[in-house]
Amino acid sequence: MINLIEKLQSGDRLEASECFKLYDLDLFTLGKFANLKRQKLHGKKAFFNLNRHINPTNICADVCKFCAFSSHRKNPNPYIMSHDEIMQIVEKSVENGAKEIHIVSAHNPNTSWQWYLEIFKKIKEIYPNLHVKALTAAEVDFLSRHHGLSYDEVIDKMIEYGVDSMPGGGAEIFDEDIRAKICKGKVGSKNWLEIHKKWHERGRLSNATMLFGHIEEPKHRIDHMLRIRDLQDMTNGFNAFIPLVYQKDNNFIKVSKFMGSVEILKTMAISRLVLDNVPHIKAYWATSTINLAMVAQEFGADDLDGTIQKESIQSAAGAKSASGMDMRNFIDLIRSSGLTPVERDSMYNEIKVY
Ligand code: SF4
Repeated sequence: MINLIEKLQSGDRLEASECFKLYDLDLFTLGKFANLKRQKLHGKKAFFNLNRHINPTNICADVCKFCAFSSHRKNPNPYIMSHDEIMQIVEKSVENGAKEIHIVSAHNPNTSWQWYLEIFKKIKEIYPNLHVKALTAAEVDFLSRHHGLSYDEVIDKMIEYGVDSMPGGGAEIFDEDIRAKICKGKVGSKNWLEIHKKWHERGRLSNATMLFGHIEEPKHRIDHMLRIRDLQDMTNGFNAFIPLVYQKDNNFIKVSKFMGSVEILKTMAISRLVLDNVPHIKAYWATSTINLAMVAQEFGADDLDGTIQKESIQSAAGAKSASGMDMRNFIDLIRSSGLTPVERDSMYNEIKVY
């Protein structure tokens, strides 16, 4: 263990074998080194943006066991929004100050690929400066499979129709055995990474998530992070890594023991230490609670996502994020944690320092 501490003190890259030992360290040792790394990269800045999440349909051809959002027997309320409805939400969001629209849907087999993509063109025609973050790698894979398009064709269409960046969803846990148990049939790990690689090769940026706290073990989380680190070494296209805390309600995974705050904070800190080549670690408050996300800022995280305005996916599974956060509240909370609130755009350019 002494060697590992010395390695952390040196600030040098951790070998894969060293990364697998990180969970053996206590929370405060991990937090100390993760916080040093965070401060070196970002000082006291805590980033957030003004965004709005829109989830246009919850009808899904896939059956991920952790999912409470898609319509199924525990959540029997299928919906699909028309483009007019989506545009009305976009209009309201822009009036409320949103600079980014984050659009993620279930895999609806009853729609055309045009329904998925043409909305981006409509948004861009009216709001050319509004950042459109849309279509996870899981959606890209679904559109490809369902409509007989190659990944390249889907990705080129995304760019043609106005998608600016890709969200990091659908990664869950890359380990193939765990994946087979929690989201069999959805995009495979290799394909998830291949899709992001193709996106990065076109000069575009994306994020990467990890869903943790269900049936996976710490070693699977480390393996997940290392696969992201390897791709990032090749492409440098990931802006942020987002560990998502598993939400337990209304789904079909049997988890006997739920994670506590220590495990969540350890995972944040370890993400910062392993992913030395990813600029930002996001504490996505919609899954961790806003209070724990604030604490996570001292354990390696530097970004809190955004005000969200409305959130459907995590709140369906029990998260308290359904109606987003007021910006004033957000800023006050960051300030009271002793950090400097920085409003950023979707590419992490600073818009305003509060
Ligand atoms: S996580 Fe996504 S792909 Fe899986 S069932 Fe839910 S909506 Fe469908």
